[in-house]
Amino acid sequence: MSARVAVIGAGFGGLAAAIRLQAAGVQTVLVEQRDRPGGRAYVYQDQGFSFDAGPTVITAPLCLEELFDVAARPMSDYVELISLDPMYRLCWEDGYQLDYTADMERMSAQIAVRNPADVDGYKRFLGYSERVFEEGYVKLAAEPFMDIWSMVKAAPQLALLQSYRSVYSMVSSYVKDPYLRQAFSYHTLLVGGNPFSASSIYALIHALERRWGVLFPRGGTGALVQGLAKLFTDIGGELRLNCPVEAIETQSGKVSAVRTAGGERLPVEAVVSNADVMHTYDKLLADEPRLDSMRRAMARKKYSMSLFVCYFGLKGEHPELAHHAVLFGSRYRELLADIFDRGVLADDFSLYLHSPSVTDPSLAPPGCSTHYVLAPVPNLEKSQIDWETEAPRYRDRIFDYLEERYIPGLRKDLVTSSMFTPKDFVSELNAHQGSAFSLQPTLTQSAYFRVHNRDRKVGGLYFVGAGTHPGAGIPGVVNSAKATAGVLLGDLQRD
Ligand SMILES: Cc1cc2nc3c(=O)[nH]c(=O)nc-3n(C[C@H](O)[C@H](O)[C@H](O)COP(=O)(O)OP(=O)(O)OC[C@H]3O[C@@H](n4cnc5c(N)ncnc54)[C@H](O)[C@@H]3O)c2cc1C
Repeated sequence: MSARVAVIGAGFGGLAAAIRLQAAGVQTVLVEQRDRPGGRAYVYQDQGFSFDAGPTVITAPLCLEELFDVAARPMSDYVELISLDPMYRLCWEDGYQLDYTADMERMSAQIAVRNPADVDGYKRFLGYSERVFEEGYVKLAAEPFMDIWSMVKAAPQLALLQSYRSVYSMVSSYVKDPYLRQAFSYHTLLVGGNPFSASSIYALIHALERRWGVLFPRGGTGALVQGLAKLFTDIGGELRLNCPVEAIETQSGKVSAVRTAGGERLPVEAVVSNADVMHTYDKLLADEPRLDSMRRAMARKKYSMSLFVCYFGLKGEHPELAHHAVLFGSRYRELLADIFDRGVLADDFSLYLHSPSVTDPSLAPPGCSTHYVLAPVPNLEKSQIDWETEAPRYRDRIFDYLEERYIPGLRKDLVTSSMFTPKDFVSELNAHQGSAFSLQPTLTQSAYFRVHNRDRKVGGLYFVGAGTHPGAGIPGVVNSAKATAGVLLGDLQRD
């Protein structure tokens, strides 16, 4: 049977949209340029080590469970989610560590070490986070925001919650200690935002994590991706890998087909693009003059920072490391200004260290461990760093730092390593400016002001993923799929 809808890109957003459409009885083809599904959640394998390339902190399991529910299949047949405690370990250079957990007693004791008064401040901050979570996540995460009125409706509540303030400013109004201010504001970096400019709406991440925990799919994030891909094909969807889309064809202002690089033409009634929003408007729809103003508008937007990621496998198991660790450097505000504003690759860094084999030893050969370390870095619009020459130097500096402070003997035990730089975000994922999280999550680029689920100029053109509301991160893109599929299914019914 030929497909009625094509979804371009098998990232989490594309997979979720494709599952929802197929489960609703709309024959769907999911077309992915790479040899595996997952997008940013790709998997690299080498010498018995398995490396999740991107997302590792799995939150909001209900939005994933919903995908299995709509397809009437039990999630447990496809993937197992393991709860992590602590959710993260936060480390500073002077040796202070905070094991971030939902256990309030353990949290209070650790906060009191820094500043006893901040224990109460933290509790009040959580109260704020829960209010934003109700308004921003429960009520609005899967809302399509198709017209300005949907925004106007939400505005009073968002104003009441002071969403015009930054996350850092909001956190600072509750806690005074500089380390704790970092601990409770850095989360916006997980969705591509500078804590000093991202809207305080994103403080909801705390409540979200505490409500459902931080989870890890047995076998890694790749196992969750495989589970979703299998779910899609089990219910009759068609998944095409190694199939880059070259163009979305239109006729009289309406989508008519998808053309692949292999020269195939797939006639469809609608297209959902999970590819980068700028790539979609600028490259895939380059021949559509109705979209000229949109292309100009997209070029003016602010895109998130990029990331430098280094995957490495070690001899030795390292049970002393936490599954997720954030390693704060000596500077915070100034380092973020280097990355987001000045476009400088600084001498210092703050890092995220992923060590999943402490939870799931099957990700490394016996007696070994799998890791990745990432540093936020400027995107390609902000800086002209020559990553060909800079990447090995940068990796060596990061390895020196890790070896000195967190993983003694790292180089001696190194079995394999590889890197992913801002240039790879462009070449592997078509990411505009090499941004790791698409549009920045600022107030003026959120909700109605983000790319809409359905394009206003070209009929049958829909978007899903990090560039659309509510934004980057797995819960974000999976919720965007719910909004997009809802709009598209409604349109198909009306046609
Ligand atoms: C290193 C890293 C760590 C992260 N950590 C976390 C985390 O811990 N938790 C979390 O929730 N989020 C995390 N994120 C963010 C999260 O991974 C992303 O926001 C999310 O996965 C993006 O999903 P998406 O649906 O927008 O699609 P993407 O993953 O961007 O996938 C888009 C897909 O479209 C395909 N494509 C593009 N152009 C074409 C074309 N022309 N033809 C065919 N296919 C095309 C691409 O190959 C890709 O597979 C992380 C991101 C990165 C980069």
